Amino acid sequence: MMRPTWTPKSRNYTFIILHLVLQGMVYTEYTREVFGYCQELEFSLYYLLLPYLLLLVNLCFFALSCVTNPGTITKANELLFLQVYEFDEVMFRKNVRCPTCDLRKPARSKHCRVCNRCVHRFDHHCVWVNNCIGAWNARYFLIYLLTLTASAATMASVITAFLVQVVVFSDLYLETYIDTHGHSQVVDTVFLVQYLFLLFPRIVFLLGFLVVLSFLLGGYLCFALYLAATNQTTNEWYRAGRVLCQHCRHEAQPPPTEPRVFQNIYSHGAWSNLREIFLPAAPYKKKKK
Ligand SMILES: [Zn+2]
Ligand SMILES: [Zn+2]
Repeated sequence: MMRPTWTPKSRNYTFIILHLVLQGMVYTEYTREVFGYCQELEFSLYYLLLPYLLLLVNLCFFALSCVTNPGTITKANELLFLQVYEFDEVMFRKNVRCPTCDLRKPARSKHCRVCNRCVHRFDHHCVWVNNCIGAWNARYFLIYLLTLTASAATMASVITAFLVQVVVFSDLYLETYIDTHGHSQVVDTVFLVQYLFLLFPRIVFLLGFLVVLSFLLGGYLCFALYLAATNQTTNEWYRAGRVLCQHCRHEAQPPPTEPRVFQNIYSHGAWSNLREIFLPAAPYKKKKK
């Protein structure tokens, strides 16, 4: 029997707990300080409640991403999964067996080293949801990512609006101050940020954290949407540039007359690709020819 050359990792809940603790801390600070101050400044209640609505939706899809079977391949559904996608014979070849599960690998599947199972349309293993992202939970993961980005960005915009109001109402930007050399200086952005940090240290720190988070999540969301619209998984995107090199290395004798470069045969237009994410093929449904 073949022995795996890698050391199997194991699933654990550390990042799920960290995720919930961070989210809890951010929302506690928002509720404890920002919400009250903004109500005093007569901000729209709908605007102030929007982060809570996004949190509610986010937590639902977070839970769904965590607990939904991503598309585990078993002896019972192996044959049905084999019919869902065609083999491109470059990245996915027919009659390849997973040495660990001892199952024939359907096209677009991959063995997850963390969960120790083969997953249909494997995208990646996400430590934040402690689950693989595959055919059956990619839709939940996408909405989870979308609402998480939206909640961070919305909260950042509420805090920014609040701090701008504070500056405008206090006419602070019209003031002057005496610097360390004893010279009178007009208030500039750096001075304003320092002043606001002294006045509302936790709120300004939260804003900095949320701005960085919004850019990171926004960038990742754009990447995930690009992959969804072009019908690629993260695994395929990562391997696409390496397939030809592996091919040359493994099949040097005889050399192929035409180099077989990876081409995405699974994309059928952005709309159809997105529909595939949100209405994934179930193992009981056979592929329509
Ligand atoms: Zn496997
Ligand atoms: Zn996994």
